[in-house]
Amino acid sequence: MAHRVIIVGGGVIGLSIAEHCLRRGLTPVVLDQGPFAREASWAGAGYLDLRGASGVGGAFFSLCKKSYELFPEWTARLKKESGVDPQLLGSGSLDLAFTEEEETAIRRMEGNLKTFGHSGEWLTPSQTVQKEPGLSSRIRSAFYLKETRQVRPPRLTRALLQVLQKGQAELGELEPVEDFVLKGRQVTGVRTPRGLREGDAVVVAAGAWSGSLAEKLGLRLAAKPFRGQVVMYRAAPGTLRHILFTGLQKAFTYLVPRVDGHIYVGSTLEDAGFEKATTSQGMEKLKSGAAKVLPGLSQQLIEDTWAGLRPGSMDGWPYLGRVPGREGLFWATGHFTHGILLSAITGLLMSQLVLGERPALDLSPFALDRSPHSQPQF
Ligand SMILES: Cc1cc2nc3c(=O)[nH]c(=O)nc-3n(C[C@H](O)[C@H](O)[C@H](O)COP(=O)(O)OP(=O)(O)OC[C@H]3O[C@@H](n4cnc5c(N)ncnc54)[C@H](O)[C@@H]3O)c2cc1C
Repeated sequence: MAHRVIIVGGGVIGLSIAEHCLRRGLTPVVLDQGPFAREASWAGAGYLDLRGASGVGGAFFSLCKKSYELFPEWTARLKKESGVDPQLLGSGSLDLAFTEEEETAIRRMEGNLKTFGHSGEWLTPSQTVQKEPGLSSRIRSAFYLKETRQVRPPRLTRALLQVLQKGQAELGELEPVEDFVLKGRQVTGVRTPRGLREGDAVVVAAGAWSGSLAEKLGLRLAAKPFRGQVVMYRAAPGTLRHILFTGLQKAFTYLVPRVDGHIYVGSTLEDAGFEKATTSQGMEKLKSGAAKVLPGLSQQLIEDTWAGLRPGSMDGWPYLGRVPGREGLFWATGHFTHGILLSAITGLLMSQLVLGERPALDLSPFALDRSPHSQPQF
């Protein structure tokens, strides 16, 4: 059984794995090439929903649902142990249709959700504006889902880091993992510019950068970054009450209201390599998409803009499991658009694997050497 577990990557996935390992009595060593949790896990919106997963497939939906269900207990525990509130909120969401085509796309999503036993409520324009007074009166209809939640990613990772620090986990920032150390088939550690870090097990959770680490092992893992740009508005608390989704098929934009009034507007989905700069085109798309649904927003101050790199996989499903042909080496990457949602279950499952236990869910659909799953549909 592994005692000292090296986790490569200190985003929400690596930190969750470390926290779950710590709880089970293991000693986690988290190494990051930069500061902790400043990449995709800082950039993400943190809405937690099953809308997207419902169009993907059974095993993926089950993974998302299980993780969604873990959030209340997990975040309450983290809050208690760390003193940092990850701000899990049951905001609910409105999918807004301005055209018949958009309404059809939302109905398709509703059908997908129904196959998994989930239902929402259709609202007329006046019912919608009653729920959300700042909305454009041009909407045709809206689909309300009470279950949609949100968490605030920088707070979630801060809470995780506090718990890890208190639990005496080893935390190495600015320490890139350059290679793996193997004794035959068994991994015995990793190499960094500071020298050899020994461990009984190594879990790679290096997000969009995981492909080059796979190459060190002679593995060909389809993993690449997808840029997402974001605009953060400053507004008075209560300006927006629900999470809004619009343009499901063509110009997907969403607005997430934070408790302090900030409104997060995301996001583009671009294949731009490892380029993290925002672009005037991306900003324009987000600002005009947001103003279309919430006209008053154009009067509000833009507090910040940024972009992050979602860790893509060949089919949008994460890679979770053992590395074939190696002992003590595990992979947890490729969480793409669902990494904040999937962080809770990923931590649980990977800690079970490291401990040599049978994982709570069948991980074969997420194996590194699987055939690609079909793409999501709305
Ligand atoms: C704009 C945007 C909006 C999003 N919105 C949502 C959302 O609403 N809900 C949701 O569920 N998901 C969302 N996501 C997706 C989610 O943020 C990601 O899937 C998730 O953060 C991935 O976490 P990670 O830990 O795998 O990656 P990261 O957070 O990128 O962390 C990987 C870490 O590995 C480190 N690393 C890389 N290589 C090495 C190395 N060789 N050695 C050491 N360290 C290394 C990096 O420095 C980095 O810190 C969004 C993403 C973006 C960009």
